[in-house]
Amino acid sequence: MKIKAHAKINLGLDVLRRRDDGYHEVRMVMQTIGLCDELSFERTGQGIRIVSDSDAVPLNEDNLIYKAASLMMEEYGIKDGIEVRLEKNIPVAAGLAGGSTDAAAVFKAMNMIFGLGLDTTELQKLGVRIGADIPYCIMGGTATAEGIGEKLTPIKPCPKCRVLLAKPEAGVSTAHVYRSLKLDEITHPDIDAVISGIESGSIKDVAANLGNVLESVTVPENPVIDKIKKIMTENGAMNALMSGSGPSVFGLFENEEDIKRAYGILNESGYAPQLFITEIFNDEQ
Ligand code: ATP
Repeated sequence: MKIKAHAKINLGLDVLRRRDDGYHEVRMVMQTIGLCDELSFERTGQGIRIVSDSDAVPLNEDNLIYKAASLMMEEYGIKDGIEVRLEKNIPVAAGLAGGSTDAAAVFKAMNMIFGLGLDTTELQKLGVRIGADIPYCIMGGTATAEGIGEKLTPIKPCPKCRVLLAKPEAGVSTAHVYRSLKLDEITHPDIDAVISGIESGSIKDVAANLGNVLESVTVPENPVIDKIKKIMTENGAMNALMSGSGPSVFGLFENEEDIKRAYGILNESGYAPQLFITEIFNDEQ
């Protein structure tokens, strides 16, 4: 069995408050993009084995694939094993939910392979035990995420456009970014404006209102992010933003020539060793 595990970007990301338990209450607009990992699954005698073409991810029990498979086995008394082959295309530690989307693929695949008959809500309940972004990755598409990211509301699919994705060299720790966020100093993005842009079918309105409070931490620590955003917007992007806790930057483009030119310039600049031309991805595509 083969599954494509798509990356996500945040069209909006706001942090409302820090809870007593240390988690943060967020309000985000999540969007699946075309860029994806590919996972193939095979039922085996026993145990969990992960094989990958990437040396950027652990292949042991630290991998979210392992954690998801192990939780499924424990919870449903599965005695047989599973081998997972991971073709890693999504940059790691990049704000693109690469690990969470792989874990989501494991929940979906094992549900089918072992005939568990679980529905999406049940899979999401398992997923949140491993990571707050996993319930969204199980569902995909365009959605708002509230609470710690697990309270999901699907909204109208975001209008399609081309997306230029740039991942600078640096890796970013999500925990560090949230810890360093100065909640009393940030300017909150207009998440409602992003949502109404989506609902009225205007990608221009969506682009005009992109905002991510976590830029206030990650950008000063990685000034290359601003340089990448500038190249994108000077070369035809409607707008550009950092995704999640970064350091990935995405630019939204309407015009194919523009995105190719921006790609070429960024490629030359050396600012982002990983560069992808992809698109807003919704299920009906
Ligand atoms: P998010 O946007 O959810 O914060 P991210 O895109 O910033 O996630 P990931 O790519 O998920 O970050 O990687 C975060 C950490 O998780 C890395 O240090 C990596 O070693 C670890 N990890 C565990 N399993 C995986 C996996 N299957 N793919 C990628 N990273 C994984």
